[in-house]
Amino acid sequence: MKSNDPWRAHLDELFGCRRCPEVAGTPVSGAVRDAQIILVGQAPGPREQEARRPFAYTAGRRLFEWFTSIGAEEERFRESVYIAAVARCFPGRAPTGGDRPPSRIEIANCAVHLDRELALLVPELVIAVGGLAGKEVAGSGDLATMVGPLHRCNRAGVAFDAVVLPHPSGRSTWLNVPGNREKLGNALSAIATHRAFRRAFGPRV
Ligand code: SF4
Repeated sequence: MKSNDPWRAHLDELFGCRRCPEVAGTPVSGAVRDAQIILVGQAPGPREQEARRPFAYTAGRRLFEWFTSIGAEEERFRESVYIAAVARCFPGRAPTGGDRPPSRIEIANCAVHLDRELALLVPELVIAVGGLAGKEVAGSGDLATMVGPLHRCNRAGVAFDAVVLPHPSGRSTWLNVPGNREKLGNALSAIATHRAFRRAFGPRV
């Protein structure tokens, strides 16, 4: 029976979702009630699937190093920020090696969860991690143009600020391109100085 509590109903809907027949896992998300910041990743990997925790392995280590550098250490971040993704289930392995990126259909299927989260939480700030998440949140464009500035976005009837970060996976070579580390620094500064981030984590020390 569907719960009358919108938050409970959302969690039931999200974690009970089995809409995509090709994925290898079941939904993983870091659901934080009343969060004013949402982070949108790409999709869990096998370690995240096993641990039932987003960004639980090497990509997470790098991501949380970035957030720690602006005053938000991992556990506090996880307690304060709702961690979503463009696809919540581990898509499985790609035939060429590595994790398969979620398909367009899987992203479209999973968008209903993100829309519901935006409408429920009405976040002031959304942090998108990686190109697929950047497109979902901040619209079209490649990482080189999306990473760095603060974007003003509107989705599911909710207006919010967004910052795009590169994917922290060790397989990504984006940060090796000249100029891209500076863009990452600009994006982290945009997060660190945002009012929602400062409220959640205090001024940068
Ligand atoms: S990827 Fe999203 S839409 Fe697809 S089964 Fe998992 S939770 Fe449901």
